[in-house]
Order: sequence, then structure tokens, then C-alpha cells
Amino acid sequence: MTNDVAIQWFRQDLRLSDNPALIAASRHNNVLPIYILDDDRAGDHVMGAASRWWLYHSLKSLNASIGGKLSVYQGNSIDVLTKVIGNHDVNAIYWNRCYEPWRIDCDSKLKSYLKNMGIKAESTNGSLLWEPWSIRKDNGNPYKVFTPFYRKGCMQAQAPREPLPPPTNKKYLQDKKNALDINQLGLLPKKPWGTKLSSHWDIGESGAHTRFQKFINEGLDHYKDGRNLPTKPYVSRISPYLHHGEISPNQLWYKVRNLADNKHVDHFCSELGWREFSYSQLFFNPELPTKNLQSKFDTFPWVDDSTLLVSWQKGKTGIPMVDAGMRELWQTGYMHNRVRMIVGSFLVKNLRLHWHHGERWFWNTLVDADLANNSSSWQWVAGCGADAAPYFRIFNPVIQGQKFDADGTYVRHFIPEIASLPNKYLFNPWEAPEDILKETGIQLGSTYPKPIIDLKISRDAALEAFKLLKEESL
Ligand SMILES: Cc1cc2nc3c(=O)[nH]c(=O)nc-3n(C[C@H](O)[C@H](O)[C@H](O)COP(=O)(O)OP(=O)(O)OC[C@H]3O[C@@H](n4cnc5c(N)ncnc54)[C@H](O)[C@@H]3O)c2cc1C
Repeated sequence: MTNDVAIQWFRQDLRLSDNPALIAASRHNNVLPIYILDDDRAGDHVMGAASRWWLYHSLKSLNASIGGKLSVYQGNSIDVLTKVIGNHDVNAIYWNRCYEPWRIDCDSKLKSYLKNMGIKAESTNGSLLWEPWSIRKDNGNPYKVFTPFYRKGCMQAQAPREPLPPPTNKKYLQDKKNALDINQLGLLPKKPWGTKLSSHWDIGESGAHTRFQKFINEGLDHYKDGRNLPTKPYVSRISPYLHHGEISPNQLWYKVRNLADNKHVDHFCSELGWREFSYSQLFFNPELPTKNLQSKFDTFPWVDDSTLLVSWQKGKTGIPMVDAGMRELWQTGYMHNRVRMIVGSFLVKNLRLHWHHGERWFWNTLVDADLANNSSSWQWVAGCGADAAPYFRIFNPVIQGQKFDADGTYVRHFIPEIASLPNKYLFNPWEAPEDILKETGIQLGSTYPKPIIDLKISRDAALEAFKLLKEESL
């Protein structure tokens, strides 16, 4: 059967191994592998600049791994697929599911549309350990608290699917007539920001496995306690690869589980569990990216001050641990989880700016920007999410720095202008005596900003605002 053509529609699964949709497509005689850049329906969550930069390199890498046969398109997925199907006499199409609400909506419309056209359309799970709808409480409701979600829901459910090998079928077709060149998708930023990001990442499926192996060699045995230390290699930095699907959670899960059975492996797997929890929250609350899960926060008196916001975005708040985090984000497209919590708490509690501002900035600048994880984490930080940090948990960025960056390596790396300060004043330069500032050549307000806010006063004000909110809702 020469006209037995199946489309493999790559989306957030830019890999060959452990790709259930690709395996299914490969059972056909010919496979047409495609990618569609669809910005039409994502609304406010059209892919951010850092993600687009990553995607460009990831598509290049995927294309190389299938002998240059990837056909890429831009536009509304349904329109593009209709044309491709017509031009290539396609009889089946396969994809791995995505869970953004707009994707779910589009996919279900697409399925019935393709069915009416007599085309087989099959979607599979290639991105999550458990489908969100499969993990529910005994009464059928979704979990709202992480520990029972993971311990009772996930760990007592069927074990995740074991990873699959790459397909053996190598007969890929290519749409030479209508497909675009990856360069024509306009994914790279106009400013040469991506050049800076490039030195930190080896993008693509093989880069993902190399990165994870490095974590196994250097980090896994320290993970449980060391995962809070931003300069140590004790976290995997696998999140952008996971988001774009260059490696699957199933590959990570079984790789560590097959290596050892200890507290570090358990803890690592439970962090993958947090990712699953975020997807569960998004699935059951499609408005998670914009709407407080706890509605009492709808009346919270947020501050409206663009000058404060810009200082935070640029890493110029005068609070070194916050500035170091924001500069790590800008320079590398990534920020360590501990520091994400510190800068997030500072934004929503000390500055009292709406968590939407943080969510938006991260969405645009993180290479791992992920609708489920980003929205649920910002709701967690702000205290308005499911199983969120309580409102009175306000991180003190000075103490956090002294505890988790005790020797100051992190701050000195990202804020070289204060590197010569002794550790005692590195996290709180405004408390340094005049002679030390003079000796180290630091002029606050000139070579490094004075703090844009008083940490204690702003903390008390936030506590008061949160207290009023609590009383109002009683
Ligand atoms: C304000 C804020 C915004 C965030 N935005 C994102 C985002 O857009 N995309 C994103 O992937 N993560 C986000 N996170 C969660 C977390 O910070 C990152 O997943 C983690 O830092 C990625 O680094 P890693 O791969 O080295 O993690 P590791 O510690 O090595 O963990 C392995 C994997 O487990 C998952 N994971 C770890 N911690 C968390 C967590 N707290 N919540 C959910 N999943 C987790 C991730 O998929 C991660 O790649 C955010 C956290 C905060 C506080």
C-alpha cells in the first residue's frame, strides 16, 4: 500500500524515543512528520520569547535527527492540517496530548472534524506520568492538596507507562512544496539576547539525555537537601527539555528508580509529582493562569507601580538575592527554584504587585515557561492557589541568601558590582558601614541601587493587608 500515509504531528514532544504517537504513526508505510506553529488560539499565552528561542533550536535538532524530513508550517492548526491532508492523501494522524485549555478545545474540534473527513485521528499521552482526569479522590473530585494527590492518588494508581524505544521505521516523507523553512517561522528574538542564552544549553533530545546523565552523576545523591542551593549542581535543570518534550517524565522516572531506592530518588520523583499536580490543577481549573483559585483574593489591595515592577524585572531592586535571581533569569532563561520562590515572594508580598505581573514576566523570559507549572506556582507564591504557601510566609531575602548562598557565590556571580563586599554585608549592603563601602568602591544609589523598599515595613504592611482579607472573608 504505497498511499498508506500517516502524519506524526509533533507538538510538545520533540523527540524520537518514548514517543507513543510516533510509534503509532510508524506502523503505517509512510510517515509525514510535521510541526505547526499555531499562535492563533493561545490568546494571552502565545509562546513567550525565550520559549520561541528554545523551540527554534529544538526543531532544528529534531529535523536533523530525522534526516531533514521535518515539515514545518505556521497558522491555524485545523486549516494547515486540512491542506496537508489534501495534498498528501493522508489516512491517519497521530499526536501526543497537550493540556493547555485552548489546545484541548482545538484538539476535540479537530478530532470530530477529521472523523467526518474519514481520517483516523488518535491522540496519546506522551507528556505526563498520569492523565489528570485519572487521579481523583474517592468521591470523584480533584485533589486540592499535594500530599494526598501524590501519595494516595498517584502512588496507588497504576504505575506510569515504561519508556518506549525510538521507532525502527525510517521512511519519512517530506512536504517539499508547501512547508516552510524553520528559519521562516520568525522564532529568534530581534535583539541578540539568544546569543547569551546559547552558552547555557545544549538543546535537543541528545542534549536532554546528556544533561540528565550529568545530574545523575553529580546531583542525584545530594538532591533531597542540596536542591535548595542555587550554585550547586544538585538540581537537574531538565525543566525546559521536559516542557518541549525532548525527554519524557517517564524516562526520568524510570531512569532514577532503576538506579536506586533512596530518599533522594523518592524526593526527585515527588517533584515530578508536583508537575503532575500543576497539570491536574490546570485541567480541573482552566482559568488557573488568570483567576485566583481562592476567590477571597479577588479584593486584595494590590499596588499599581510600574517603576517598582521594572526594577524587579531588571534585577535592580537593591536587594541582592532578588537581583541575582532576576539576572540569572535574564542571562540564562532559567532560575533556580529556591530563588524563584524568593523573587516571587518579594514581588507579591514586599512590593505587593499582582502575581499576574510575575507570571507574565516569567512566561516571556523562562526557557521552561509552562502554563501549568508557571500559573500554579505563582498562585502558590501569592497564597491564592491550591495548597498554597500561607499568606504569612514572607521570605526574608537577606536570611534566604545567608542560608542558601552562604559563601555568596551566587550573588557575586550575578552582581559583580558588589562582589568585593564581605559576606556579612553581601545580602544587605545598605547596612554596611561607610568605611567598608568606601574601601570596596561601592556607592549605593550609583554603582548599585539602594533598596527600593524597606523589607520590614513592607512585610508588616503585607501582613496587615492579608489579615484584613482574612477577616473580611470570615
Ligand atoms: C514562581 C514560580 C514559577 C515557576 N514557573 C515554572 C515554569 O514556568 N515551568 C516549570 O517547569 N517550572 C516552574 N516552576 C517550578 C520549578 O521552579 C521548576 O520546575 C524547577 O526549578 C525546574 O528546575 P529543575 O528542572 O532543575 O528542577 P528539579 O529540582 O531537578 O526537578 C525536576 C523536575 O520536577 C519538576 N518540578 C520541580 N519542582 C517543581 C515545582 N515546584 N513545581 C512543579 N514542578 C516542579 C520540574 O518539571 C523539574 O524539571 C516555577 C516555580 C515558581 C516558584
